[in-house]
Parts: sequence; C-alpha cells; structure tokens
Amino acid sequence: METAERIADLRLSVERARRQGKRIGFVPTMGALHAGHFSLIETARRHADIIVVSIFVNPIQFNSPHDLETYPRTWEADLAGCRENNVDLVFAPTVQDIYPPTSKTAVPCRITAGSLAQGLCGATRPGHFDGVVTVVGLLFNLVMPDVAVFGEKDYQQLRVIKQMVDDLHFPVEIVPSPIIREPDGLAMSSRNVRLNSEMRARALCISQTLFEAVRLVERGEREALKLRSIVKQAFDERGGLRADYIEIADIDTLEPIDQIEDRAQLLAAVFVDDVRLIDNVRLIAR
Ligand code: AMP
Repeated sequence: METAERIADLRLSVERARRQGKRIGFVPTMGALHAGHFSLIETARRHADIIVVSIFVNPIQFNSPHDLETYPRTWEADLAGCRENNVDLVFAPTVQDIYPPTSKTAVPCRITAGSLAQGLCGATRPGHFDGVVTVVGLLFNLVMPDVAVFGEKDYQQLRVIKQMVDDLHFPVEIVPSPIIREPDGLAMSSRNVRLNSEMRARALCISQTLFEAVRLVERGEREALKLRSIVKQAFDERGGLRADYIEIADIDTLEPIDQIEDRAQLLAAVFVDDVRLIDNVRLIAR
C-alpha cells in the first residue's frame, strides 16, 4: 500500500495508474475508520481496479470549533485498517496543502452546494455542505476517480454530492453504499467513540426508534406528522435525547412529505449530550 501526504506524490501515483489503464475508485473519509468505512472500500472494489482512500479532517465543513477539536484522530489504526482492507493508496494531505494560506484580503474560491443542502443538516449546520462539496470537488480534481463511493449513513450528503456532480458535470460515477450498524443497531460513526457507556446506552434509542417507525409504517401508519411526533416522544422520554431535527422526506428531492407512500426516508439528527449523531431509514408503505 502506498501513502501520499503531498499533492505532487498523489498526482504521480494517479498518473501511473491511469497510464496502466486502471479504473480508479475513491473513498473520501475523515479518518477514525470503522467497519462502515471499510464497507465503502469493499463496494469501491466492485467498481474499480485500484482504490484510493483519503483521510482528511476538513476544517471548513465544521460549524462548531468544539466538534472539530474533539473529532477523533487515529492515524496509525487507520493506516493498519487500510492495509488490511487492501487499499492501494492512502492520501492524507495537510490542511495547509489543501487550503494554502491566502493574503489577508483574498477570499478563496469555494463551491456552493445546491438546493438539496437547504433543509435537514443544512438548516441546522449553516455552511456545512458548502464545506463538504468544496472539499469533495477539490479531492475529485486531485484523485480524478472514475467512481467514488459515499455512505447512505450521511443520506443528505450523498444526495448533495450527487447534485454537485450532475450540475457541474464532474466525470465521476457516484455509488451509494448501505449503512453499517453495530450488532445492536446503532449506526457506526467516528463520533461514537465520544460516547461514554451511559451515553452509548441512550444513543441506542435512535436506531431502535427509527426501526419502530419502519414497523409502524409497515402496519399502516401514513401520517408523517404523527410519526414524527411518536419518534420525538421516544427520543425525549426513552433516550433523554434532544432531536436537532426529525424529518420525513422524499428519497430524491428531500422535500418534506405529509403522506407516507413509496418514496419516504425518515432522517434524524440527535444530540446525545454534546455529541450529535445522525441516522436514517427508508419507510416502505406496503
Ligand atoms: P466520514 O469519515 O464520517 O466523513 O465518512 C466518510 C464516508 O463514510 C462517508 O461517505 C460516510 O457516509 C461513510 N460512512 C460513515 N459511517 C458509515 C456507516 N456506518 N455506514 C456506511 N457508511 C458510512
């Protein structure tokens, strides 16, 4: 496995792979890798010959300095995990290389996310998705992948990136990969390491409640408003959790919907004390 910290080294490796006619698969991450990330690598392997993983904690997508400071960084374990999962190249640039300091008066060029970034996480984390599409667009320009894999765990992010690729004609195929969960159902997340055992127990209420909502819809519940209030009550009363948002939205447009039919996704962002976790499920009305 190769590692590249400098942009020039990455470009050399990518050029070599391209000259050999290899199809490049890309998995962008912020490190603190877990089985969710490794499943994206597996998905990428089904679509490409060589796999590039980037590890970069992107400061411009954090809207809370506390969240950025406490974001877990586990470089040695990440490298070992990539090696075990047969990654070909790990790209781990510095913040200075990705965002070179500009003069005091210059405003650096950024990408603005499209309308899919407006609700949900976009509404409660202003600027977050502009930071995401900027770094993903920038990384696409450096890695020049044929295909890039994103997790459905970050459902809105996946949709926002697909919109960027379509609207700006990036020659990259975006492949979604399903949510990987702990055996008890909690969606895997790098932020889970910030949960102590009491918080971890309460966090379980998130996935349990979403799964209950799936069952309620299967049994005939169609009113989005009612389902949302059931979910909110469960978060409050059973988990002692504060919801940042709970939304039932169209699977593609992410517009809120009133009547659950065949295109509904239930998405939630929830605070377990100061740790914000997200999760989502597909609602299927039978
Ligand atoms: P992150 O390192 O959190 O920025 O995530 C990098 C990629 O991994 C994103 O495409 C995420 O959606 C994906 N990812 C994170 N957690 C999971 C999970 N539990 N299951 C599937 N994909 C995930």
